[in-house]
Amino acid sequence: MNAPKLLFEQAKAGNRGWAPRPPGVPEPSAAELIPAKYLRSEPADLPEVSELDAVRHFTRLSQLNACIDTHFYPLGSCTMKYNPRVNEKVAALPNFAGMHPFAPDECAQGTLGMLHGLQQMLQEICGMSAFSLHCAAGAHGELAGILVSRAYHKSRGEKRTRVVLPDTAHGTNPASARLGGFEVVTVSSNSRGRTSLSALREVMDGSVALFMLTNPNTLGLFEDEILEIADIVHGCGALLYLDGANLNALAGVVRPGDLGFDIVHVNTHKTLSTPHGGGGPGAGPVGVAAHLAEFLPGWVVTEDGGVYSLQRPPSSIGLLRGFAGSVGILTRAYAYLRALGPEGLREHTLGAVTSANYLRARLSGTFAPHVDEPCMHECVLSARAQKERGARALDIAMCLLDAGFHPPTTYFPLIVEEALMIEPTESESRETLDAFVDALLEIDRLITSDPEAAHAAPRSTPVGRLDEVRAAREPVLVWKGDSGPSAGP
Ligand SMILES: *Cc1c(COP(=O)(O)O)cnc(C)c1O
Repeated sequence: MNAPKLLFEQAKAGNRGWAPRPPGVPEPSAAELIPAKYLRSEPADLPEVSELDAVRHFTRLSQLNACIDTHFYPLGSCTMKYNPRVNEKVAALPNFAGMHPFAPDECAQGTLGMLHGLQQMLQEICGMSAFSLHCAAGAHGELAGILVSRAYHKSRGEKRTRVVLPDTAHGTNPASARLGGFEVVTVSSNSRGRTSLSALREVMDGSVALFMLTNPNTLGLFEDEILEIADIVHGCGALLYLDGANLNALAGVVRPGDLGFDIVHVNTHKTLSTPHGGGGPGAGPVGVAAHLAEFLPGWVVTEDGGVYSLQRPPSSIGLLRGFAGSVGILTRAYAYLRALGPEGLREHTLGAVTSANYLRARLSGTFAPHVDEPCMHECVLSARAQKERGARALDIAMCLLDAGFHPPTTYFPLIVEEALMIEPTESESRETLDAFVDALLEIDRLITSDPEAAHAAPRSTPVGRLDEVRAAREPVLVWKGDSGPSAGP
């Protein structure tokens, strides 16, 4: 496959897209309408192409993407499940899609009723007393949860300065804790890949505001000592936070509130099948136990005698973005939950866990499992034996591209050598899972017979292996026509 040309390379001076006909009324110039300081002195450096060429260019680019609609996409921790099209249809209903964000509550009863229904379902699924749908992503929900914990301790006249998390935590956890003004303390995992209770006991004291845990954790393992963990944390007056990114392994089966969690965020683009943003809007609803409800961010939707309204929680940590939330995304999440119902949700959860264990069982003789136990929704394997034969996890990922699969997450969690973190989700058929396993076993044989060939992958993609370090350090952000690419600022 050849790399497509950039739009600038296709451009020819004088090419034009569609232009409206002259309007037949006087046309003021830009200088008459816009203050001079906002006007360009020279025309913008835009590629001149016809409308059809522009359409073809972007359509081709969109088809070069690996996405869930074209490829099996077992990216661990990311839950790349199928986004049912009925969600899109519901979100596009004109009365949802056309609702003005500033519409008064009395004109938005349908939308508010839908958001209220989503809050109720999330409360039931998570075993939490209240939810705010305000936040725009998982990490955003984390920050909100951390600020809720700060406000809670402050309201009790306590100044707690530390947030504790396990060494398997997603990178956003320490980042959110730092942003929230806390010092971060890491506790190690034990040989079973779970939080070490003795390490936890050692760091927990009256200076800790919050213990942030992902359960199942990022090794795909259920923290089976969670009740003891909750006792230790609460015994110090701290709060227990669930990074709910992996809720797709619990939903409909286990409620985080019953495990002792005080705060949880939910990634709708993972568990609830809304699209992974691509930089677009997302949603990270935050749920809390009763004693924290007054601190929730943004607004919550309340119902009184069949009338819905947006209310600021009395001691809210405030606004972290505009409006009630990413309503278009939340509508999709609502549609997904209503289409499944409680039984369907449970089936999805069990399906995700079954798929991951199927892959683990078929692959663990070739790729060593980090912990040799049944997993939850994802399995973490190691390519250390392959590394000894001359090819690394990165080479395996690149070979998978040639085999027609999006690679799994590699080199995360950081504590696993040559990690391959595989999350198949419930969406995939047995045939797809088998084809993926067969491809990995074939790659393993290739590494034995010809490790150099593994280093040369991928060969079938528009560009070969990229220098990711250089791409990050010297990004080419500006294209100056004929003078060639130049580094951006
Ligand atoms: C995906 C993920 C996050 C971050 O969620 P975003 O919506 O990408 O901000 C946090 N923690 C874990 C464990 C995750 O898998």
